[in-house]
Amino acid sequence: MKNIIKIVLAIAIFLGTCLVVPTISTDMGNMHYTLNNPQIASNNNDSTLIHKTSPQKNEIINLPVVNIPILMYHDVAPWTKFMTKLSKSLMVQPDEFNAQMDYLEKNNYTTITLKELNLVWEGKMVMPKNPIVLTFDDGDAGVYQYAYPILKKHNFKFVVFLITKFLRFNTNFYMKRSQVKEILNSGLCEAGSHTCDHINLQRASKDFAYYEISQSKKDIEKYLSFDATSFAYPGGRFSDEAIKDLKKNGYNIAVTTIYGFANENQNHLLLKRIRIDGREPISTFIAKLKGY
Ligand SMILES: [Zn+2]
Repeated sequence: MKNIIKIVLAIAIFLGTCLVVPTISTDMGNMHYTLNNPQIASNNNDSTLIHKTSPQKNEIINLPVVNIPILMYHDVAPWTKFMTKLSKSLMVQPDEFNAQMDYLEKNNYTTITLKELNLVWEGKMVMPKNPIVLTFDDGDAGVYQYAYPILKKHNFKFVVFLITKFLRFNTNFYMKRSQVKEILNSGLCEAGSHTCDHINLQRASKDFAYYEISQSKKDIEKYLSFDATSFAYPGGRFSDEAIKDLKKNGYNIAVTTIYGFANENQNHLLLKRIRIDGREPISTFIAKLKGY
């Protein structure tokens, strides 16, 4: 009987040792991820461990996948009379937006751009604590007029996905070229492509889809002197062909409208996002961040 108990204890100790997540004792500066990230505990539905090689020490480190909220906004502006439900869903009012940014600041989120996220995934930058990405599709005028002052006040980084035909001519509905230049010069903003004409990439001819993907990158380079490496599919519509075209044109991150947290194990040209709806109360915003 004693022998049986000994054997059972030995097996239990052996299994316990195997199940312990490896303790990390390397220099934190060499690490790709930090383990004291509440996102891992609160949002990580994916228990997969990824193997990372420390660039300096060439060690294999098992670290949990970090789930990152990439928030999808469109416009930030006060509502007007006679707005449709759809318009309201796409437009977060400035006070609401400010409350959301206050929440992020109070809860120690660190905003990063998609270029930075790519650097982290390439092992060239350390993942900050509580990473979050703020994205704005279409380049609406309200991003400059209402969102930017609030983002600047919080010192928050963000990404704007531009419909680049609006860099060639001015309208009152979209940010003007000078305004985009100003937000880029702040150092807080990354410009990404949302095609030239906001086309449906699933329906466009092969040649036209390629043109929209490559020309929009050239437009951003020409008009803003910015190297766009991030892309948002207009209307969330992507295709295998579009993904190939993005790779050929030097994009390394693309975001969809598929709901969820992004992480390194996803196709980096098909990352999930969390849509923020202008009609939702702050409690829903918080719940979304917590993965409910
Ligand atoms: Zn769009």
